[in-house]
Amino acid sequence: KKKIAVMTSGGDSPGMNGVVRAVVRTAIHKGCEAYAVYEGYEGLVRGGDFIKKMEWHHVRGWLSEGGTLIGTARCMAFYERSGRLTAAKNMVLHGIDALIICGGDGSLTGADRFRSEWPSLLDELVTNGDLSIDQVAPYKHLNIVGIVGSIDNDLSGTDATVGCYSALSRICEMVDYIEATASSHSRAFVIEVMGRHCGWLALLAGVATGADFVFIPERPQEHDWREDMRVVVNRHRKLGKRKTIVIVAEGARDKDGNKITPEEIKDLLADKAEGGLGLDTRITTLGHVQRGGTAVAHDRILATLQGVEAVHAVLEATPNTETCFIAMNENKIVRKPLMKAVQETKKVAKAVDAKDFDKAMSLRDTEFAD
Ligand code: ADP
Repeated sequence: KKKIAVMTSGGDSPGMNGVVRAVVRTAIHKGCEAYAVYEGYEGLVRGGDFIKKMEWHHVRGWLSEGGTLIGTARCMAFYERSGRLTAAKNMVLHGIDALIICGGDGSLTGADRFRSEWPSLLDELVTNGDLSIDQVAPYKHLNIVGIVGSIDNDLSGTDATVGCYSALSRICEMVDYIEATASSHSRAFVIEVMGRHCGWLALLAGVATGADFVFIPERPQEHDWREDMRVVVNRHRKLGKRKTIVIVAEGARDKDGNKITPEEIKDLLADKAEGGLGLDTRITTLGHVQRGGTAVAHDRILATLQGVEAVHAVLEATPNTETCFIAMNENKIVRKPLMKAVQETKKVAKAVDAKDFDKAMSLRDTEFAD
């Protein structure tokens, strides 16, 4: 019987439990044994009880649970060859034939590295005397499949990552709460959302809440953002808007690549000098509420369909198959080359089309309203 293991790694995201559930149950349904590696790569390096056999009922009710129940961790040891060597040994000792990893681009980069080194890791284990030739013989090829779990929607090549719509929904809900109090007191709020390198959450939250202004990492303002924001907010206020909502991603940058902080934005909104906006301004950092909570329907569905497809990809792989990850393109679940997506992610930032964004943001101008 083939032994298929599933692991969650890197930052947690809503929907990861749905992935584990789908992998475990599909594996069993296909006549394989299912395993879970607890605590990400840390569990692979530690071995022993960190690698557990999973039964059908173990994942009962997991679709509606937030976070990841098999744990995740940042694992320094896995960055080193010695750590990956121990991980390889543990895989062979547990008889794991294939590994399905749900994580961000770091986790998937680690996975690809592990796979490319695999033959040399086995050789070294035999040379060291850790394992015998007979022990490693059935595991000549490491079969790895990735699923992107990330709230940031920051991987190229897939329309959505598992968790991104849950985080976006949470942000919208929070902004709605803040808007009520902002309107009551006629205040301005600067709301910081997650996204160090990718502005997808900030941008789409801006569209979904009708925010006055959005700052993101990858589309540095073309002009002086101070002047632009002053003009926009002034216009909105003159038109009678009683609230001002500015959404800023953690990694927001100006046109010269300098960081834009919530404090700087607040100072500008609150500026009482002649010609300044002079608004009563507060900063709210949403923080980890964006990650927590249950997954929205979209993430549960994505997790389930991708988990099922990952097991099929594992079972259909041949020694010559390129390592893939499971993506969603135009509403279809597809397999795509893993490393190409990771490399493209480093080159081009993913956001909605700039033109679409401009069109959507033009709705915030109440110029046509009386
Ligand atoms: P994410 O998967 O969310 O991007 P990280 O970048 O922290 O999160 O990666 C998660 C884990 O994956 C790391 O703690 C490390 O164990 C492993 N990892 C990441 N990048 C590499 C790499 N280049 N080589 C080996 N392992 C890596």
